Amino acid sequence: MSISAQASPLAPSPNGGRQLTATLRREDAAEERAGLSPHDRISCPVHRRWLYQCVSSPAHAIRVTGHRWCRECDAAAAVAVDELTGAVVVTCSRCLRVPDSAANRQLLRACRASVVAARQARHHRQPWETRLAG
Ligand SMILES: [Zn+2]
Ligand SMILES: [Zn+2]
Repeated sequence: MSISAQASPLAPSPNGGRQLTATLRREDAAEERAGLSPHDRISCPVHRRWLYQCVSSPAHAIRVTGHRWCRECDAAAAVAVDELTGAVVVTCSRCLRVPDSAANRQLLRACRASVVAARQARHHRQPWETRLAG
């Protein structure tokens, strides 16, 4: 009865904010209803972040599917992301080569797209930017 309206439970997330939340929701729905491959997602359903922000987590090296994985070495590959240029590189932690496979190319595509989406989300949050774009 006497709960005041002062505390909002929906504190904005430090990175991504509303755009990230909207993307997560859209991709959750697309995965569920439209059969979107989880590997084509640019927002991570596990970590609730942009993919490139958590792709280094062990959860993203998937031996079964070959994502972030070097088949030749049977080892996890590392991902380096340059947020400024949008460059994403996958390198095997053992042979230091780029494990070129359909799965790793798919991972690269999704990572690059997530860098672009996050950059756009940052722009969206600047009111003066939006005014200028009109
Ligand atoms: Zn993740
Ligand atoms: Zn290797």
